[in-house]
Order: sequence, then structure tokens, then C-alpha cells
Amino acid sequence: MTITTDHQATIDSALRVDGVQLIGGEWVTSGTGRTIDVVNPANREVIARVPRSDADDVDLAIKAAEKAFPAWRDLDASSRARLLFRWADLIEEHNAELDSLESQEVGRPSWGPPPMANQIRFIAGQADKVQGVSLPTRSTGSLGLTLREPYGVVGGVIPWNAPGPMFANEVGPAIAAGNTMVMKPAEDAPLTPLALAKLALEAGIPAGVINVVTGYGHEAGAAIPADPRIRRMGFTGSPQTGRAIMESCARNLTPLHLELGGKSPQVVFPDADLDAAIPAMTMGITLNTGQVCAAGSRVVVHRSIHAEVVERLAAQMRKVTVGPWHQQVAMGPLINQKQHERVLSYIEIGKEQGAELVTGGGRPQGEEFGDGFFVEPTLFDKVSPGMRIAQEEIFGPVLSVIPVDDEAEAIEVANGVDYGLVASVWTRDIGTAVRASRALQAGQVGVNTPIGAGTVIGGPFGGYKNSGFGRTMGADSVLDWTQVKTVSMQGAPIPRG
Ligand code: NAD
Repeated sequence: MTITTDHQATIDSALRVDGVQLIGGEWVTSGTGRTIDVVNPANREVIARVPRSDADDVDLAIKAAEKAFPAWRDLDASSRARLLFRWADLIEEHNAELDSLESQEVGRPSWGPPPMANQIRFIAGQADKVQGVSLPTRSTGSLGLTLREPYGVVGGVIPWNAPGPMFANEVGPAIAAGNTMVMKPAEDAPLTPLALAKLALEAGIPAGVINVVTGYGHEAGAAIPADPRIRRMGFTGSPQTGRAIMESCARNLTPLHLELGGKSPQVVFPDADLDAAIPAMTMGITLNTGQVCAAGSRVVVHRSIHAEVVERLAAQMRKVTVGPWHQQVAMGPLINQKQHERVLSYIEIGKEQGAELVTGGGRPQGEEFGDGFFVEPTLFDKVSPGMRIAQEEIFGPVLSVIPVDDEAEAIEVANGVDYGLVASVWTRDIGTAVRASRALQAGQVGVNTPIGAGTVIGGPFGGYKNSGFGRTMGADSVLDWTQVKTVSMQGAPIPRG
């Protein structure tokens, strides 16, 4: 396959990196010279290549991060904050190119200005507020205090569904705390992370502070947590990979946080404002073609309004336009063939297990869908809580409606999965909202909004149960990348009398 020129034209050539990765401030190939094609999922055309790195490349990146660490750790916090603010400004200046780049590698329509500049600004504001405490002492001759110190060289692995925000979310707090980092983006969508790293260098963040090693998970990815020189890990991705990363970390006793998948419920009570709920719930499962960890993939609805909800959801889902990302559609293709086969197979499983297919259910028909990984927005009704489509993360635009008889059953069904990332409640009654907010087992609860903390600035994000542990995005996100040291200082006691 050759790299196509018409799609390249949509990307600012200065930001688009091709065939190289960032180690120690240098743009380098992998040691073996092998590469991976980055493919536009709308038509399978190759849009760039990135190095297929392995443990040897990760070793070089760790060495570069080790070299950069002492000076970065010792740089005063205000200067680190200033560099992050400059990085945020540069990101904002390049918003249009970054949006286009991410659209192309993920296959999503434009979302307008991406969130990364604001994410980095929020983090930069924390960089010079990393504080310890003063401690009580048993003697007037001593002082006790705590210091918050960076870990050293830290590692990150992120998925492909929102590569820009995921990169900002892991790298920003880690380096703001004074760590240096080795980050592996997903093989399907590494271009936006590489572009962000390029802007970080341009902002003056020193060489070796951010190292981006591209490659497959089982090669470059696995080599990061396996290395004892990595002192802390951050991982966002599937529970299966999260387990593998945690096992590696356990061998080295490396602390970590895990941001994993979800099977988020949208609980709809009889008094819900359906004019607001129906479009929001449709968006909640079709945004990014359902490839969102927080996607509201289960509608748990009171039987008294069940028929109306299904009818209106079906009508709304049929209005969702599907096509190649640049055609101003609402929904693009899935990311790759494996994901396409997986989503289509879940639709078959839903039918086989007796759910009622209301709309969608296959590939859309038409020439423009020929080579892309497209799937229709799909609605299943009469789903019972134990069915696989009600229990397992599909990571596609497949919505399951589960009717229930009362509030207690609604909460039981909503909580009756292994995941606990996000939950939404749709009601006009404050009492119902308060009870449900407390009862739902999820890291974020949204009342009359589809994605819990989405509209809140600085809401900590992370999961209950198999959705992971640790919280990102909040006011403590930089603190999380520090370790605490207690210092006790002994002088002479104050003379008495
Ligand atoms: P994935 O786990 O397959 O891959 C994620 C990353 O891990 C990729 O970079 C991949 O190369 C790497 N990887 C794969 N195997 C590895 C290994 N053995 N060792 C080290 N790294 C390895 O997940 P995905 O399919 O890319 O992403 C989808 C999943 O991510 C879904 O489950 C989704 O819910 C989850 N996700 C969670 C959040 C969140 O914040 N909770 C956000 C986005 C996505």
C-alpha cells in the first residue's frame, strides 16, 4: 500500500510525524527498522507509518528519561508550570490540525476544538501547588514535615479511541509532578500523541522528559511495565490488558492506576424529561461510534414508559448519519477489522439470546461504506440483565434496553455488572436523584446528563469494580504522581524558664 496524498492534505505536515518516534528529544526509527501502517478506518488507506518498537527501543527511551530526570525534578515548580502553560497555548494554536489528525486516525467526525489545551492548563495550574504538611512533634526541638517527590521514570500505555485526551491525561500530571515518562500510544492511533509530544518539545519541555515509543502492545507496550526502572505506571485500556500490566507491575512492586472499560447504565424513571433524555442517550452510544469507555450502553427503563422510550430511541437512532469522517456525518466507522467483527458478532449474540432487534443490526448498505469498518446504530429491546449484550463491553454503537418494574429493581439491574465506570439517572424528582446517586456503583454519576462528569471541570475520573482504580483529571491528579517523604529535623529544644 502507498500513502495516499489526498488525505495527507487534510493534515498540517509540520505536525504529522511519519516513520519516527520521540526518544531523548530525537525523532528516531525503531532499532529493527520495522514499521506499522496507520490506517484510515473509513477506507483502509494508509495515512502514515510509525516504528514497530520492541524492548530495545523501550530500553533507549528509559535511558533517555533517566538522563533527563534529575534536571527536570530539580527545576522549580513555577518553571515547570510555565512550560506546561506554554505547551497548552501551542496546542490551542494547533487545535484545527490536531482535531483533523485525530479524526483521521480514529475515523471520527470533527468534534471542534479538542480538549487537550484545557486539560494541560488545568494540570499546569497544579504543578506549583504540590505541597506537603507540617507535622506535630513531641519536642520543641524538632520539626516534622512531608515532602511530595516524583517517582523518577514513569510509564504510560493508552488506547486508540481518544488518543489526544488520553495522552494529555497521563503525560500532563506525570511530568507536572517532576517525573519523566515513557509513553506508548496505541498502534491504531499514535499520530495525535506524537504531534502533542512535538508541541511539548517546541514549548521548551526538555528532551527526554516525554518519550513516545510506538509499537504493538505485546512488544513495546509489555516492555514498559516489565522494566524495574519504571517506578510508576498509568494504564488506560481494556480490563484484559489491565490485568497483564498489573501482573507485570506486581513482579516489580510498581504502583499503578488502571482506567478500564465500562457497561454504563442510563436509568430512566417515569418522570424523566424524555425530550432531553432521548437525544442525550442516543449521543451517549453513537459518539465516537460507541467507542467510549463511558458510553451509556444500557438503558434501564421503568415499564410504564418503556414502549415510548423504545419508539423514540429508535426514531432518534435512525436519524444518526453514518459515513466517512470528513463528510460531516454524526458517526464514522469503527477503528479496525477486529473491532468490526467483534461488534457484528455481539449483534448476532444479542439476536441468538432472544433480544429483540429494533433498528440497525448490520453494516450500512451503499458504495461509500465499501471498504470501511462501518456498522449501523443498533437498538435492542427486551434485553434481560443476564444476556451477554447486557453484561459485556461491546465498544460499538449497540444499545440495550432493559425494562424494570420499580426503583429497587432499576438499581439492582444497573449495578448488576462487573463494571462501574459511569451511570446516569434521568428524573425530575430530587429525592429519586439523590437516592440513585448514592446507590449506583460507579466512579461518576450523571443526573440528567449522559456522561457523568463530562460537563464538570476537574471531576475525578475512574472506575469502581472492574472499571479500574485510581482517579485522573481531578485536582489531585498531579499529587497522584508523587510519593510522600516524612522529614523529621532535630535541633535543640527551646530552653525552659
Ligand atoms: P487494549 O487494552 O487492547 O489496548 C490499550 C493499549 O494497551 C494499546 O496501546 C495496546 O497496544 C496496549 N497493549 C495491548 N496489550 C498489551 C500488553 N500485553 N502489555 C502492554 N500494553 C498492551 O484496549 P483498546 O482496545 O485499545 O481500548 C479499548 C478499551 O479501553 C476499552 O475496554 C475501553 O473501555 C477502555 N478505555 C477506558 C478508558 C477509561 O478512561 N476508563 C478510556 C478509553 C478507553
